[in-house]
Amino acid sequence: MPELPELVVLSHQARQELKGKVVAGASALQPKCLNIPPDELCHTLFGKRVGDVTYKGKWLFMPMEPSYTLLINLGMGADMLYFATPGDAATNYQFRMDFEDGSGFTIRFWWFGHVHLMSTEALTEHAMTASLGPSVDSSLTVEAFRAALSGARGRIKSFLLNQSKISGVGNAYAHEILFGAGLHPDRPIPSLSQAEIDLLYASLRRVLDSAILAGGAYYEKDFYGRQGGYTADNWMVGYNEGRPCPKCGTPIEKIKTGSTSSYVCPTCQPL
Ligand SMILES: [Zn+2]
Repeated sequence: MPELPELVVLSHQARQELKGKVVAGASALQPKCLNIPPDELCHTLFGKRVGDVTYKGKWLFMPMEPSYTLLINLGMGADMLYFATPGDAATNYQFRMDFEDGSGFTIRFWWFGHVHLMSTEALTEHAMTASLGPSVDSSLTVEAFRAALSGARGRIKSFLLNQSKISGVGNAYAHEILFGAGLHPDRPIPSLSQAEIDLLYASLRRVLDSAILAGGAYYEKDFYGRQGGYTADNWMVGYNEGRPCPKCGTPIEKIKTGSTSSYVCPTCQPL
């Protein structure tokens, strides 16, 4: 599933390639992914100019100027691919946008995703994005992180995955973030010391920033169809059940935590 690092990479590339381009056509083949009828979506997009593409959590925000914003969520994963000329376009897609210069992009969801068009003025009425907490990128300060945690109940992993608290962390990076901070995923939030919260913040920054630098995770593709450089070698505990912990040698365990599985070192991350 694309998480913040993949969204940072994709939005940066889309901004570079698409800014200022004017829509010459669009097609939406899966109405369930849309918030308005396909004809209305494509008709409204026609003639609009792409602004600065950004992201919030796991959503891509593509301004369609004037006055609209296209909101894209890649769900469990998707190929969102740029093409420079129509002949280079992928043939398998649920959504496609073409620009006046012949370039464009396609989206093929692996499972399910969203392409929603909103009036930019009414963006706050888009419940799925309006409810998102701050993105866990470099703009999230340690103070903001502490504030999001303050008064929170429940377990620390659930907090990391709760997009209304902070947005952009999914299950894959959560294993590494918690291991880096020496925290068990089931640690109750009220039991965390200030020092542990600061360690968690530092680990979150370290893991996500290195994944961004690497171009995202290897099992996702960027706007040019390239795989990310953050590979299985980067996982310290994630998906490494039975292998020795890189810090202490204890075999890594796979445990059930709420509705997700977690990979932990029982020595480095005691409950
Ligand atoms: Zn260990």
